[in-house]
Amino acid sequence: MRATVINGRDVAKKQYAKMSETIFELKKKNITPCLAIILAGDDPASVGYVSLKERTAKSVGVDCRVFRLPADVPQCEIEGLIDSLNKSDDVHGIMVQLPLPAHIDANIVLELIIPEKDVDGFHLVNSGKLTNRMTGITPCTPRGIMELIAETGCAIAGKHAVIVGRSMVVGTPLALLLLNADATVTVCHSKTVDLASYTHTADILVSAVGCKGLIRGDMVKEGAIVVDVGNTRVDGKVWGDVRFDEVSEIADFITPVPGGVGPMTIAMLIKNTVEAACDKAQ
Ligand code: NAP
Repeated sequence: MRATVINGRDVAKKQYAKMSETIFELKKKNITPCLAIILAGDDPASVGYVSLKERTAKSVGVDCRVFRLPADVPQCEIEGLIDSLNKSDDVHGIMVQLPLPAHIDANIVLELIIPEKDVDGFHLVNSGKLTNRMTGITPCTPRGIMELIAETGCAIAGKHAVIVGRSMVVGTPLALLLLNADATVTVCHSKTVDLASYTHTADILVSAVGCKGLIRGDMVKEGAIVVDVGNTRVDGKVWGDVRFDEVSEIADFITPVPGGVGPMTIAMLIKNTVEAACDKAQ
């Protein structure tokens, strides 16, 4: 295999090691960073993600309070909970596990979280700050991807970065982060004609689609950095967007699925919470 595998679990561990000193300093001031997670319903994937976030947060000394609500919870009840968490002095980060049940308007709910506690970075204030190159809270998956790219030791400035997928959770904020790091950025999506003609010119290729095996070896430039965000469950197994066996023979760096972007998303959620606690302590 040609490519070096960027192990997201190892990169996440380094992040926790860096955070532990900050958490220690906060605890000396009687502050324990605290993340509140709102989970509505019992979607098995969401339940699994939330318990992983809770376990990981607690394992690094961050308090995590999970509010498990029934699937038929009225929107006003979620709104009331967010209001009380916004006002709570000992809660530093609030996240709502998506997707919410169909009768809940997620856009309204997410905008109720005060921007200082919006550790998912989805609030319009935080996305506006990212667009305007101002300091705010950065969405977790794109922030984690930037750390994975940094791990390669390769410069981003001047490189051609191609992102496949333009969601507000991954593709769009990542495009801004890469642009702010002086890459030349192309964003592809479902209406892109001849996807391979773009991916083939990418020094940095990030696929965030959720389509098993979309990126073939013959779509990748030799020596590229390839980050696979895709997470598709087929017959109980998780698959990325990238055909790992083919692409790892062409690229210089590649992230695996699982064990690539996923652990970094959680690490950045916890980092955003610790940073929110630091900001409040100042
Ligand atoms: P999403 O909101 O469904 O967005 C998917 C994007 O892919 C859309 O922009 C869509 O284009 C584009 N697309 C669909 N089919 C395409 C095709 N054939 N060619 C090119 N583009 C195509 O999904 P998301 O929330 O961004 O998540 C994407 C994937 O990443 C999912 O598998 C998700 O589970 C995974 N994910 C993983 C993590 C993690 O921590 N590991 C975190 C977040 C997401 P249009 O805009 O034109 O519809």
